[in-house]
Amino acid sequence: MDNRFDIVVIGSGLGGLLSSAILSKNGYNVLLLEKNAQVGGCLQSYYRDGAMFETGVHYIGGLDSGQTLHRIFSYVGLLPALKLSRLDIDGFDIIRFGNNKNKFAYAQTYEGFIDTLSGAFPKERAGIEGFCDYMKGICRRFPLYNLESGNFLDKLEMLEINARETINSFVSDPILQNVFAANNLLYAGVGEKTPFYIHALIFNSYIESAWRCVEGGKQIATLLSDIIKANGGTIITSAEVSRIVAYNGQVTNVETTDKREFEGKFFISDLHPSNTIAMTQTDVFRKAYINRITELENSIGAFILNVAFKKESFPYLNHNVYYYSDPSKVWQGTNYQLKNWPENYALFVGSGKDGYSQSASIMSYMQFSELEPWVNSHNTVSSPGSRGDDYEEFKENKAQLLFELVERTNPGFRSSVKAYHTLTPLSFRDYTGTPSGSLYGVLRDCNEPLKTFIPARTKIPNLLLTGQNLNVHGILGVTVSSLVTCGELIGIDSLLEKIRKH
Ligand SMILES: Cc1cc2nc3c(=O)[nH]c(=O)nc-3n(C[C@H](O)[C@H](O)[C@H](O)COP(=O)(O)OP(=O)(O)OC[C@H]3O[C@@H](n4cnc5c(N)ncnc54)[C@H](O)[C@@H]3O)c2cc1C
Repeated sequence: MDNRFDIVVIGSGLGGLLSSAILSKNGYNVLLLEKNAQVGGCLQSYYRDGAMFETGVHYIGGLDSGQTLHRIFSYVGLLPALKLSRLDIDGFDIIRFGNNKNKFAYAQTYEGFIDTLSGAFPKERAGIEGFCDYMKGICRRFPLYNLESGNFLDKLEMLEINARETINSFVSDPILQNVFAANNLLYAGVGEKTPFYIHALIFNSYIESAWRCVEGGKQIATLLSDIIKANGGTIITSAEVSRIVAYNGQVTNVETTDKREFEGKFFISDLHPSNTIAMTQTDVFRKAYINRITELENSIGAFILNVAFKKESFPYLNHNVYYYSDPSKVWQGTNYQLKNWPENYALFVGSGKDGYSQSASIMSYMQFSELEPWVNSHNTVSSPGSRGDDYEEFKENKAQLLFELVERTNPGFRSSVKAYHTLTPLSFRDYTGTPSGSLYGVLRDCNEPLKTFIPARTKIPNLLLTGQNLNVHGILGVTVSSLVTCGELIGIDSLLEKIRKH
């Protein structure tokens, strides 16, 4: 194999795969390197105890015909092959609080969303409408989310708007305020920091339309791999990049842990920027820049309880559930007290058959400090190993606490479970390389929007970044970031034109 490429992409999460697919479609000779045995990162699904589990794609928004993600996925060639099923139109997410038997639904389409919540809070209809109009208005001001060119940064004042304050300013019923904010597990919301645009871009895409991947998020990874190869690209798995080698201010090649070398004209990293900087051999990055990037706060990680159900014992839920024991703590989930854990969870069921679910993932926040005793243990593909009995005991205790809360809120749940396993932030740290097992990478902060803004360009002209740490995370956010990254090479206007015309 010729070891010189136009573009070398490091990391095959959605960001790396999509960038490779777009660039190879546009005639570049692309090499994609992935440290794990399989491509996909958070897109991966896996089988255990006879059921399929998602790593990080429970549902996706904006995929109806004509909507932004649909248009980009169509251009790349992912659609119509991607098998999707639409979540319940009248309630894709169900919000539950404490012992309150009331369930609040987020319906798809703005009309449905407004009608459903106005039904539960009749006096608040005008506020609900105002909130929706404002959210749509904010989304319109992010040009790339509408496939138009333009800059994020000329809208600085929008990046400084706080999500919690904005939500609370539209409606006065505290329960409704909390209902609006209850899906903030989707972005690990922090009351005093999370900017409103994060809430708006994510929420808006699901209200537009909300979907599950019928055969798991892995489908996206497999289809994109096929597209890259069909476009003439090369993918190498089990290739962990350990060094990005620069000479005279330009990257010349990358090296893998097993000492393979790959040369390129341009390099794109789908890794967290602090990992990218750590492996780049250069004096081009100033100390202040290195410090800024390495000291960035990352979003919290999660403890995940994955259960496989007994045959035909748990009904298929065509929606997701967000639960909080105390509704007034909707914005304090990441700052939990150990003695009260768990106080909230999100429940996502897996694939269904004959009206029954085969599996479910239950997710609750977990601070990395809880994992301090095992922080130096590493599970890698080459040495899967165990972190020891005390770690297994820790996880088992957590699993039982989470089971108790889920059982209390869904009587009979436990008796449906055939088998279970758990994941912690350490699992994510070692699987995708995300620092401290962070769920979504760099935490956006409306108080310091520029500090937490990561551009695709770096100080090294032929080294670009992509993935969830730029702009917004999630399937839509990472897709838009891939456009930004590829736009640096193809020209963003020309790329957008091709997508619009497709
Ligand atoms: C638990 C969880 C649930 C989620 N649920 C949803 C959801 O329902 N909907 C949604 O839209 N989003 C969801 N997300 C977010 C979404 O999955 C991510 O934002 C997105 O997939 C991240 O893509 P990425 O390419 O930036 O990074 P990643 O998927 O993290 O990919 C990075 C890749 O780089 C590889 N890599 C790391 N280091 C090296 C190296 N040295 N050399 C080579 N390769 C390397 C990793 O193995 C990995 O494959 C969820 C995330 C999590 C964690």
